[in-house]
Amino acid sequence: MDNPFALPLVIAKIAGFGPKSLMALESVGIDTVGRLLFHLPLRYRLKNQLSFVSDFEPDKSFYVEALVVRLQPRNSSMRITVQDSNGDSFSLVFFHFSPWHKQKFSIGTRLLIWGQVREFNGRWEMSHPEAEISRQGSAFEPSIECIYPKVGKVTPKLLSKAFHFIWDKFLNEAVDDYGEFLEPLRLLHTVRLSSQECLDFEKLEKAAKDKLAHLEALHYFSYLHDKEELIREKGLILKPGQTYVQLMKALPFELTQGQKDVLNIIKKSFSQGDLKPRLIQGDVGSGKTIIGFLAMCCAFDRNRQAALMAPTELLARQHYDKLTQLLPTLSESIIYLSGTVSQKQRKVLLEKIKSSDRLLIIGTHALFQQKVDFKNLSVVIIDEQQRFGVNQRAELLKKSKSSKAYQITLTATPIPRTLAMATYGPIELNVLKEKPAGRQDIKTYTLRSDQLDIVYKSVLNCVSKKQQCYWVCPLIQESEQVQASDVEHAYEKLKHHLPLLRIELIHGQIPIDTREAVLKEFKAGKVDILVSTLVIEVGVDSPTASLIVIESPDRLGLSQLHQLRGRVGRGSLPGHCILVYDSALSQNAVERLTALCHSQDGFYLSEVDLKLRGPGEALGQKQTGQAQFKFFDIIHNEENIPLILEQCRSIPKDQLMLLEDFFGACDTTPYV
Ligand code: ADP
Ligand code: MG
Repeated sequence: MDNPFALPLVIAKIAGFGPKSLMALESVGIDTVGRLLFHLPLRYRLKNQLSFVSDFEPDKSFYVEALVVRLQPRNSSMRITVQDSNGDSFSLVFFHFSPWHKQKFSIGTRLLIWGQVREFNGRWEMSHPEAEISRQGSAFEPSIECIYPKVGKVTPKLLSKAFHFIWDKFLNEAVDDYGEFLEPLRLLHTVRLSSQECLDFEKLEKAAKDKLAHLEALHYFSYLHDKEELIREKGLILKPGQTYVQLMKALPFELTQGQKDVLNIIKKSFSQGDLKPRLIQGDVGSGKTIIGFLAMCCAFDRNRQAALMAPTELLARQHYDKLTQLLPTLSESIIYLSGTVSQKQRKVLLEKIKSSDRLLIIGTHALFQQKVDFKNLSVVIIDEQQRFGVNQRAELLKKSKSSKAYQITLTATPIPRTLAMATYGPIELNVLKEKPAGRQDIKTYTLRSDQLDIVYKSVLNCVSKKQQCYWVCPLIQESEQVQASDVEHAYEKLKHHLPLLRIELIHGQIPIDTREAVLKEFKAGKVDILVSTLVIEVGVDSPTASLIVIESPDRLGLSQLHQLRGRVGRGSLPGHCILVYDSALSQNAVERLTALCHSQDGFYLSEVDLKLRGPGEALGQKQTGQAQFKFFDIIHNEENIPLILEQCRSIPKDQLMLLEDFFGACDTTPYV
């Protein structure tokens, strides 16, 4: 049969779902039966067993049968004392009530009550509980209500109905094939629960989620296993030659031992044709770029093409400038390609990429769009991979795979090995430990936004020493949705308070040429303060900048802040970073900012980030679609992964296909 999970909701014609409900669901990515099935309840109202007052725990909900023993109507509230069959009593409090309430709750009435209890003046009470009259002799009916995350005006009731409908109409016959996946989902949506299931619900809920987590992990890791097969192929043997030597000679510094070690590893893999992708983790400023350049030279020296992809235009441009500067005699063979290159020039460049043997190509993700046809791409360097989106990475993978290119990713965001494996597939991890000698400390402080006077003084102090300052805000313009500082506002404020300084503004909506011109002036020391959004987050390199002010730092992740802070302290000058926070910070934000003030170790900080925010947010997975699990908790299940990998190897093909049907159609994020 066809994959029932891929059936579009429009076609499923679910009773009660009009065009408006469908649109509301679609707007949050729920457009197939499978995706609707994955819209799971946030929590449940468990009315599955009767409790007694002696079971009460604060802030939990209970279902109790009790007798009304006392009524205390007041002007603004009504308090009803009830007593369970053990003789223990508690109060129900209503702030809105009607004569009808009084009647309903008359003394001696037996009630079935459901609500959250709290302790008040040493007594248990429930405010505004649900209560109905319990008919003598009627049997207790256990029930469970699903509380779904809200989607527009689609009510939980309607959703509940939809699941029953889907079950009866589409999934009944699918159970033969997909029973293993459907069973846990049936339970989680409480479709056709037996009374025993109702009673044991909490236990079964956990088991169902564990089951789905396991299946999800199997699906995910089998996918990776699949990739492994491809990597068994051998790449072309590459060796350093003349250009490599030329570049080494042009360097104004000696490589650190760490850089040498990583380069040796890369050269070894080149000499063995080992195509396993490589992830090089090195803290901000550890000198990863030059490693990428040197690896590219190895391809060039064998008459092949090499490409470096950077996540932003600014960064790509900067890499291009640096490489042409280091290899002035080869400027004809170094080309730059980005989305903003003119049509005419683009045509020339694409032709060159298609026909020239020896090329060093630098650019943004424009490099890996379909129309770009590489003649013999052999080395691909990806700078700061975590910032690329799913599709961009997919395109890149395809290109480098079909041409059997070595793939080296440079990142300042260190992630645990298992997570790296899960995110990128089988990959070699190399850590670049040390930083170039003579690097200065960056002192980091926090100040409240009503202490800006102190910040302005620091800026003046910095400028008086002929040094420059970055001033960073997360937003371009003021926003109603997000509470965070914006650069336009900050720019006006600074101009007002420091009228004698030269202040410039850059952000993503300013044309790239203008941005570059401003950056050039900044580097030349002609601009005192550069007000910017996160466009300077990665790579912008200006050795005489010594102060960075970051507004609304609580809006940013630790690794991001660490990257930003790395814009200063790059030359021989000590760096300073001032974090200007607004109102009340959450506990979590306090912990993050404190960690930042106390540590300059990017690896440590990213661990803290991972713990405090979870892998999704910490690694920016939401945007990039990296290993995103709905059920499987990779951080807390690291030690189980080898076992799962083992199971993946023996999973039969048809079972794998069922898994793919299910998770492929249900999940909204494709794995890349
Ligand atoms: P990142 O690892 O953050 O990408 P970069 O590659 O941008 O760091 O290097 C940061 C700065 O350090 C650059 O200006 C670069 O030229 C310089 N640099 C790189 N390696 C060394 C070294 N071995 N000694 C001194 N400076 C270096
Ligand atoms: Mg870099």
